[in-house]
Amino acid sequence: VNVYEGVMQTLIDELGRLPGVGPKSAQRIAFYLLKVDALDAKRLARAIEDAKDRVTWCRRCFNISEGELCAFCLDQRRDDHVVCVVEEPRDIVAVERTGEYRGRYHVLGGTLSALDGVGPEELNIAGLVRRVAQGGIREVIVATNATVDGQTTAHYITDLLHGANVQVTRLAHGVPVGGELDYLDEGTLAAAIRQRTPF
Ligand SMILES: [Zn+2]
Repeated sequence: VNVYEGVMQTLIDELGRLPGVGPKSAQRIAFYLLKVDALDAKRLARAIEDAKDRVTWCRRCFNISEGELCAFCLDQRRDDHVVCVVEEPRDIVAVERTGEYRGRYHVLGGTLSALDGVGPEELNIAGLVRRVAQGGIREVIVATNATVDGQTTAHYITDLLHGANVQVTRLAHGVPVGGELDYLDEGTLAAAIRQRTPF
């Protein structure tokens, strides 16, 4: 229901289109923005504009980038022999937070999905195959999500790279750090048993 008039309703409608923002939150944010300093509100508007104008996709790995190549592709200190394949740029942030990985990345831009009609052509898969074919990569770590679509995509990529001179690995699934066995769902515990490793 459109309770407000003109620009206020437009603002609420636009905010309500954002992911995870329902009508109530949209209204709350809109009123918050009305109350803040004009400069603060303009800075937000400017940040959105600048990001839309300047951020594109890395030519090599399809991460977000302000130039032809992203920071991870440009970083000379990273290991060229390993490529970690993720679904979205935000997954890179998650892997980086671990401090465990110093290789390169490749962003698929989603997962294969029969339901949503997403095929291999819609994802940045050809680019990955090309990178592997160019040589120099010893290991491809497929770090897609542990969802049905994520796992389907992982299988697809593994099959595709079969025969290429590269080792394809996947993230282990299992007991979360600090997790208790009787709180785990059967799927997670089953995967942990299957993927058990020697001490
Ligand atoms: Zn890149």
